[in-house]
Amino acid sequence: DRQALLVSACLLGQRVRYDGNHAQLANTDLMAQLQASFILIPICPELLGGLSTPRPPAEISQQKDKIEVISITGTNLTKAFDTGARRAGDLVLHHGIKWALLKSKSPSCGRGSVYDGSFTGRLRAGDGVTAQYIQGLGVQVFNEHEIEALLTGLVRSAIKYPISYSCFSTA
Ligand code: SF4
Repeated sequence: DRQALLVSACLLGQRVRYDGNHAQLANTDLMAQLQASFILIPICPELLGGLSTPRPPAEISQQKDKIEVISITGTNLTKAFDTGARRAGDLVLHHGIKWALLKSKSPSCGRGSVYDGSFTGRLRAGDGVTAQYIQGLGVQVFNEHEIEALLTGLVRSAIKYPISYSCFSTA
């Protein structure tokens, strides 16, 4: 039986990104293997959190102990990002989802590295809000550069980052 796989909707060609574009996976062979191996469940946590497309880009910002999600225009979007993560988590719990393929670098979906809050394109180690939240629910999260590992069922051990990106403590 195929297991459910939560997938960032933009990776499946849905135009849900902040700029109205998608980030469709270019490798059709890998895409076909994914479809053969999993039931794909598209989500966009930022839309689930009540945001719309297009929208100003946002990054996770850390000032002293305060961790928030701020748009490039200065709007605090922490609550919307938290809501999106919780709704993704509801889906995970409802369907017993164990696997996710999420878009890298995003403040919602990124796993392993995210933009550093300066809007200069710099990255730092860490996870997006939804990626972090659903990993806490036991989901194995992969990004689009790790599809082969996902297909081989590689289970990564938990990675510890120097900074916690949890927004929930400040919500
Ligand atoms: Fe894609 Fe995730 Fe950003 Fe939505 S929140 S556009 S699914 S990376």
